[in-house]
This record gives sequence, structure tokens and C-alpha cells, in this order.
Amino acid sequence: MSNTKLRPHHVLCHSKLRPHHVLCISFFEGKGYNPEFVQNMTEVIENLHDNTQIQLTVGADIICDKCPNNKEYLCQMEDKVRRYDETVLSLCHLFENQVIGWKELKELAFTRILNANKLKAVCGDCCWNSICQEKLTINGDVSVIGANAFYGCTELQTISWISGSFAETYAKKNGYIFITE
Ligand code: SF4
Ligand code: SF4
Repeated sequence: MSNTKLRPHHVLCHSKLRPHHVLCISFFEGKGYNPEFVQNMTEVIENLHDNTQIQLTVGADIICDKCPNNKEYLCQMEDKVRRYDETVLSLCHLFENQVIGWKELKELAFTRILNANKLKAVCGDCCWNSICQEKLTINGDVSVIGANAFYGCTELQTISWISGSFAETYAKKNGYIFITE
């Protein structure tokens, strides 16, 4: 007899994602709560492609699946992360359970949150926030960054993206450290 447990989101959809996790994925650099979490998050990211269909869920998702804070499919910080999710939905004009392509979701997050300097408004009280603010990773097919995109974002030091991209030009012009992915 198999002892493999079927988890609810695996039965329904392999790509359920908490809305605020689009931001966490943007900043992920191989660190996390424990090795199992890091390995799972790495695999989730590797399996996300531009045309992957995401179902937005305000609840446990494919990243929570291996997180030590996930107790019986409920985050130990549920009130806080629910607030993050709802803020992302509101800023991006999306709604819970909406199905959206990964590319479109990334672009909305970049345009309406990162490029609008609203990361702190979403998750300013997250324990990782100072790290994410310092390493603002530009995601999506960026062709324009407003001149005041990061005005007031005093902790921003590094922008990472593709070599030769507009982001590199922007970073160098505005005195940010640029690193290639
Ligand atoms: S369980 Fe909570 S802390 Fe862990 S990944 Fe999910 S939302 Fe984040
Ligand atoms: S500050 Fe926390 S919630 Fe916000 S993107 Fe970073 S890790 Fe995710």
C-alpha cells in the first residue's frame, strides 16, 4: 500500500500560488527557512514558464507546501500573509481564484508594485524585507523604467537582470550596482 499523501492543492491544481509569492520569487536567491523549503522553492521556480497558468489563492500553495510555517495547510502567520496577498490583489486589480499566465502576473507585479515603489506597502513588516529592498530584482520584459521609479527607496542598492538590457543602462545611469543573473 502506498504511503504517499495527496495534498489538496495537488488534487485541484499544480500551480496554485499565493499572490504575494510572485514578489518573493522575484527576490529569491537560494535562502529560506530550511533546506527542504529552499529546494522546493527552487523547483517551483524552475517549473514556472511564461505560459504557465497560475490560480491565485489566498491560502496554502505550492511554496507553502514544504514550509515549516505551514501547519495543516495554514500558515503560522496567516493574518499577516493574508494581508500581503490581499494588498497584491488590490494593487494589481486581480481577484482571488483568478487564473492568470505567469508572464502577465510577473509584469503586473513589476509595473504596479516594484516599479511603483510599493513593496513596503505590501510586505514592509516581513522579516526578509530589508534584504528584498536592497536587492530589487527586476522581473518581466522591462523596456521602460520611470525616472522616479525608485524615488525614496533609500535601501535599494542592487538591480539584477539580463546583461545588455535596459535595466543595466538604468542601473548604471542612476548609480545602482548592476549584476547579471
Ligand atoms: S507557510 Fe506562510 S511563511 Fe511559509 S511560505 Fe507559506 S505563506 Fe510563507
Ligand atoms: S519582503 Fe518578504 S513577503 Fe515581501 S517579497 Fe520579500 S520575502 Fe516576500
